[in-house]
Amino acid sequence: MEPEIEELYQEIILDHSRRPRNFGSIPDASVCVHGNNPVCGDQIDISIKFDLCGAVEDIKFAGRGCAISQASASLMTMKLKGKAADQAVKIFQTFRDLLLAVRPTPAENLGDIRVMEGVRQFPLRVKCAMLPWRAVEEALKQRSGKFTVSTESD
Ligand code: ZN
Repeated sequence: MEPEIEELYQEIILDHSRRPRNFGSIPDASVCVHGNNPVCGDQIDISIKFDLCGAVEDIKFAGRGCAISQASASLMTMKLKGKAADQAVKIFQTFRDLLLAVRPTPAENLGDIRVMEGVRQFPLRVKCAMLPWRAVEEALKQRSGKFTVSTESD
């Protein structure tokens, strides 16, 4: 990766960790998932409200932890808000491949969340970046109720 690009990516990550978007919780959420990454100490609470067609009408997160986990959550909520359920699942799979696959497929539809790609070089950080996404994966699967996920069990 070009150094200038890397610097730009770091700026986006810092910006999102300092000024997280969609921060908070949805009072009438359809589903809430608490995510825990004991390795780093990151905590994330994702709440999603689905519309009548099952699309992600609203998504918010709250939490505390390292810059990577918070920025990843912030970028994720921006990416998933308004998406149909099957689109959201597809985005999750593409992002997971970007961070975890041996040979990631070109992630054309990821937009801003591609900035997390640099995290691949740091295996412990991958858990931080994946934490909010693991919570969302569970939320998309369960559709309603309250659940907990951990990076240390799957
Ligand atoms: Zn972390």
